[in-house]
Amino acid sequence: MSIKRDNVGDYYLYLTCEDCEPSEKLRLTGNEAGADFGSKTFLTLSDGTKIESPEFYRQSLNAVRSANKALSRKQYLSNGWFRAKRHLSRVHKDIANRRRDWFFKLALRLVRKYDRIAIETLNLEGMKRLWGRKISDIAFGEFALILQWTCAKYGKTLLKAGRWTATTKPCSDCGYHNKTLTLSDRRWTCPECGSHHDRDVNAAINILRVGVPWT
Ligand SMILES: [Zn+2]
Repeated sequence: MSIKRDNVGDYYLYLTCEDCEPSEKLRLTGNEAGADFGSKTFLTLSDGTKIESPEFYRQSLNAVRSANKALSRKQYLSNGWFRAKRHLSRVHKDIANRRRDWFFKLALRLVRKYDRIAIETLNLEGMKRLWGRKISDIAFGEFALILQWTCAKYGKTLLKAGRWTATTKPCSDCGYHNKTLTLSDRRWTCPECGSHHDRDVNAAINILRVGVPWT
C-alpha cells in the first residue's frame, strides 16, 4: 500500500491485489463484436452500433484554451502565474477523470452485451512515451487497457487484431481488396460482389474476423 500526492494537491491511496481470477462473472450472451476506433465516432461495432465521442470532449477543449490564455497573461513565476498554472493542471485533470469515468462505463456496457470483443491493437509500449502522440491515440490506448481489465474482471474475452493487419480495405463479404479506397470514402460499394459498405462497420467486421485472444 502506498500514498501519493499529485501536482494538483490530491491524495491517492494505492492498493494492489494479487488475485486475478474473474471476481464477478457475467452471464454469457452468445454475442460478439468487432470494434473500430475513430476520433469523432469513438467506436463503430461490427453489428452497426455507433458510439459517439461524448460532448465534454469538445467542451473541455474550450476550458483548456481559456486556462492556457489566463496563464499566458500572467507574469512568469509571479504568484498569479503559479495560481493560473495550478488551475490549468486542475482543468487537465478533471478532463482526464471524466474521460476515464466514461471509459469505465462504456467498457462495462460492452462486456454486458458481448462475450468476445475484438479491437485493433496499438503499440502500447509506445503509448508510454506520449510526446508527439495524437490525443485520440492516447485516449484509445487508455480505453484498450480499461476494456482489457473489464473483460478479465467479468470473465469475458478481449481479442486483438494486429495493427498491421489490413482491416479497412478488404470487403468483409468477399475479401476483395479495395486499393482505391481513400480516407474520405465513408461508404463504398464492392466492385467484385456489389456489397454496400459503411467504411467503419466493414472494418469492425474484419477486426472481429482476424482477432485472436489478447495475451
Ligand atoms: Zn465484395
